[in-house]
Amino acid sequence: MSQLDPPSNESSADSKSNPRYSVGSCPICEQGLCSIRACGLVNDRPTYGLVVCDECEAIWLQPDLNGVHVYADAENPKCPVDQSHLYRGNSRWATPSDIDQLGWSDAVNPDLTYDPDSDES
Ligand SMILES: [Zn+2]
Repeated sequence: MSQLDPPSNESSADSKSNPRYSVGSCPICEQGLCSIRACGLVNDRPTYGLVVCDECEAIWLQPDLNGVHVYADAENPKCPVDQSHLYRGNSRWATPSDIDQLGWSDAVNPDLTYDPDSDES
């Protein structure tokens, strides 16, 4: 048995050093964080937002976890609005200005912001 595993591809460009802003923990699976994605980017501005659970792929179309949610296919998650790939389409984890643009700033729970850079301290 070889111990030499090929290098993993887990550090995709999408997640590199981008903090994720979340509205709450997932009421469906009770494990994931429901983070905001900025979608339908035009001139670097989102036309709509999604809230996506990073565990169970539940998706909300509004930053209200008590509202209606849909499920994406875990193998091939697609945006419920424009059917583009949820993570590789015309979207990104929302930045503070994206969230401001969406008018969702009040929904963000600052205690749940996931910051990949915080490991460096
Ligand atoms: Zn979940």
